[in-house]
Amino acid sequence: MNKSKTYLNEDYDVVVVGGGPAGLMAAGIAAGSGARVLIVEKNGELGKKLSITGGGRCNITNAETDIHKFLQNYGDAKKFLYSPFSKFGVTDTFIFFDKLGLPLVVEARKRAFPKTQNAKDVTRAMINFAKKNNVEFRLNTVLKRFLMESQADAQDKIIAIETNSGKIYAKHFVMATGGVSAPETGSDGSGFQVLKNAGYTIHKPTPNLVPLSSNAKWVRRLAGVSPSFMTARFKQYGRTHFKKTGKILFTHFGLSGPLIINSSSHVADMLKNGPVTVSIDLFPDTDHAMLDKRLVKLLDKHKNKLLKNILPELVGKKLSDELIFLSGLQQEIFAHSLTKEARKKLIHIMKDLQVPISGTMGMDRAIIADGGVDLSEIDFKTMQSKLHPNMHIVGDMLHINRPSGGYSLQLCWTTGFVAGKHIADKYEGGWLSIS
Ligand SMILES: Cc1cc2nc3c(=O)[nH]c(=O)nc-3n(C[C@H](O)[C@H](O)[C@H](O)COP(=O)(O)OP(=O)(O)OC[C@H]3O[C@@H](n4cnc5c(N)ncnc54)[C@H](O)[C@@H]3O)c2cc1C
Repeated sequence: MNKSKTYLNEDYDVVVVGGGPAGLMAAGIAAGSGARVLIVEKNGELGKKLSITGGGRCNITNAETDIHKFLQNYGDAKKFLYSPFSKFGVTDTFIFFDKLGLPLVVEARKRAFPKTQNAKDVTRAMINFAKKNNVEFRLNTVLKRFLMESQADAQDKIIAIETNSGKIYAKHFVMATGGVSAPETGSDGSGFQVLKNAGYTIHKPTPNLVPLSSNAKWVRRLAGVSPSFMTARFKQYGRTHFKKTGKILFTHFGLSGPLIINSSSHVADMLKNGPVTVSIDLFPDTDHAMLDKRLVKLLDKHKNKLLKNILPELVGKKLSDELIFLSGLQQEIFAHSLTKEARKKLIHIMKDLQVPISGTMGMDRAIIADGGVDLSEIDFKTMQSKLHPNMHIVGDMLHINRPSGGYSLQLCWTTGFVAGKHIADKYEGGWLSIS
């Protein structure tokens, strides 16, 4: 085959498959060396998932600068991550985005967001970074398979990718096609299938960080309610398995919010053994007696008003309506008519609001799906594949579990950087443009 004659215009130093955060980082860093880099992206736009992260605000990383504490969040995978994080860690992420003109701010639980509070700004900044370093893009292009060349006394070498619109030859390849959560953003697992066909061990993905569904109508009526601080006890057959304090969001399908999402994999395990109930304490810092005093004071102050018009002072309008409903009280009851027994019942429900859980939501609602490429098949010093040394694998494709809070995107920045830098080190003549 006379490759150079037939495919002269198609030859790249590097082809990065997937234009998400990990792919954009790897491409920009590799291209900074002067290498000719192409991003192949299935969608008609880049960074579709990145643009919806963090509820539209993008929790870009977590400002825990102690590497040991930071890596605790990746479970068993942490031992693989010391090396890449020593090359590009949390502080580097802060500096990197600052140089891109997108300074970060740190919020509760050390979660870092762009100061502009807009995830689309992060996508724009990453695309500009890639463009400034002369990365080329081919959109609406889907990877179908790798073309290999057998090597005498060496592992097979990937020489090209076959896409829906033809073959693209390159010297190096970066796989950054993401996991399987939120498939409508493009990461539908097709990259895993391509790797599987090329001999990789792929752990089956399951939805991991995911909201919980409830069939209770009253829960769905609370959609949009999000009291900021409460305790949830996750119960089965009357026994509390674990409890967490934080933020819960009621939705039209059940429960979401950081507290719920970070409990979901544990709940998924519990659901295998039977029904699960989440018992929510709306006032974790106030005991029954204190809460009763607050309620009595409120009722005394507004004796001649309807309960439904004064209870919102304590819990907001929507929750107030549902608490009255769950207590079996009439919506039109006056404050002065509330019996001690009815008051106690109301207090009891505020301290033990029982939400029946019917399941976990599917991949379409998942933030992260676990599963992916077996870590033993990657050299984490470089993010190179051990099966095909001219391929690197980064981001959500890796079989690494982690909680919410910026840990997924940091994994993309870190692994994307390390792969890009390893390739860049092979080229000379360019200069990296970050600012
Ligand atoms: C709703 C939601 C909110 C989130 N919020 C946060 C957050 O605030 N903080 C955080 O740290 N993490 C968050 N995450 C997780 C984070 O978005 C992911 O970890 C991250 O996007 C993974 O980046 P990636 O580059 O590996 O893959 P992706 O972002 O999934 O990008 C992969 C790209 O590859 C393309 N592709 C796939 N298959 C092919 C193919 N065969 N050929 C060509 N192209 C292909 C896709 O179209 C896609 O553009 C959130 C996820 C979701 C779903």
